Amino acid sequence: LNRRLAEFGTTIFAEMSALAARTGSINLGQGFPDTDGPEEIREAAVRALRDGRGNQYPPGPGVPELRSAIADHQRERYGLAYDPDTEVLVTAGATEAIAAALLALVEPGDEVIALEPYYDSYAACIAMAGGTRVPVTLRPHEGAYVLDLDELRAAVTDRTRLILLNTPHNPTGTVLTRAELTAVAELAAERDLLVVTDEVYEHLVFDGAEHLPIASLPGMRERTVTIGSSGKTFSFTGWKVGWITASPELTSAVRSAKQFLTYVSSGPFQYAIAEALRLPAAYFDGLRADLSAKRDLLSEGLAQAGFEVYRPAGTYFVTTDIRPLGATDGFDFCRSLPERAGVVAIPNAVFYDHREAGAPFVRFAFCKKTEVLEEAVSRLKRLA
Ligand code: PMP
Ligand code: GLN
Repeated sequence: LNRRLAEFGTTIFAEMSALAARTGSINLGQGFPDTDGPEEIREAAVRALRDGRGNQYPPGPGVPELRSAIADHQRERYGLAYDPDTEVLVTAGATEAIAAALLALVEPGDEVIALEPYYDSYAACIAMAGGTRVPVTLRPHEGAYVLDLDELRAAVTDRTRLILLNTPHNPTGTVLTRAELTAVAELAAERDLLVVTDEVYEHLVFDGAEHLPIASLPGMRERTVTIGSSGKTFSFTGWKVGWITASPELTSAVRSAKQFLTYVSSGPFQYAIAEALRLPAAYFDGLRADLSAKRDLLSEGLAQAGFEVYRPAGTYFVTTDIRPLGATDGFDFCRSLPERAGVVAIPNAVFYDHREAGAPFVRFAFCKKTEVLEEAVSRLKRLA
C-alpha cells in the first residue's frame, strides 16, 4: 500500500459489520436500512433489465431520464435550475462523486477544509488527490453540535482550495442552519474557494429542520459541487446510484475524473431511480415520519440506558456520549459491546483527526425495523 493510503487500512464499516455477523449482534453500526425501498421502484429496475434498458454501457454522464429527474428534483425542491445535459453527472453512489470531485479539483499540496467528525471516505479521497486535510471541529454544546465560524475562518490559508461540507451531517445529525451556511458562503466568496457539499441525507430532516443546499445561496451556484445519492432517500444502498449537480465547468472537471474511475455505472438502476425521484410527496413525507419516530424510540431508549444523547435534527444516526456509563474510549466500548449487550455501534473517533476530541462518542443507526430497535434498547439497558 502506498504512503498516501497507508494510514487508512480497512474502513470501520466493514470491520463493524463483520463483528456484528460474527457475534450475531444487532447491527446499529454501518448505516443501511433493514427494509428495502419501494416495491414499485424494484419493479421499475426489473422492467429496465427485462426491456434491455441499461444492460450495456449507459451514456457517460448518466441516462437522460435520470439526469432530467435530478434536474427537476433540484428545481422543484430548491429552486435550483441545472441543465441536465451539461450540469448533472450520475456517479457510482455519492462515494464516487466525492472521489471524482476531489481528484478533479484538488492539486497536490492544496488544503481541503472538512468538518470534523467527517465521513471516513473524505480523508482517504483528499489523500488520494494529494491534498492536505484541515479539519474544523464541530463542538458539542447543549445537546447539539455547532460549527465555530471563527475557527472555520482561521482555518483558511493561501493554500486552501475548497471547503468540503456535509449537511445533514454524518455522524452528528447536525443540520447546518441558514446563518451558518451564509457565513460559509461569504467566506468562500471572499477567499475564492470552491465548496463540495455532500447532501446525501437531504430528505432525512426532522422537527421542521430545513435542509438548505448551499448552492442556492447568492453567488454560490458557480462555485459549488452538490452531491446527492439514491441510497439513503430510497433505501437502496446496494444500487450505488449517486450524482452531482454543478456549473458546466465543474461538472466537466468531475466527469474527467469519473470517466477513468468507473466510466459508467449501473444502467438499469439508473432508470429505476429516475422513477423514484418522481415519487409523490407522500413518499418523502412517509420516509421522514417513519425515521423521525425511530429516532425518538432510539434516542429515548439510549437515554434510559444511561447514555448522553445528541438528538439528531437529520440523518439516520444518533451520536451518544458514553461517559455517563463510566466509559471513556469509544473504540474499547464498541469492541466489547457485542459481548456485553449484543449490539454493534461505531466509535466516532474514526471520524476525527483530533482523536481525543471524538474519544467518548459512539454512533448508533436507527434505519432499522421498530422491533429491532426495541430489542436493541432492551439489551442496551443491561449496561446501566
Ligand atoms: N456521504 C455520506 C455522509 C454518507 O454517510 C454516505 C453513506 N454511505 C455516503 C456519502 C456514500 O453514499 P453512497 O452509498 O451513495 O456511495
Ligand atoms: N454511510 C454509511 C455509514 O455512515 C456506510 C457506508 C459504508 O459502508 N461505506 O454508516
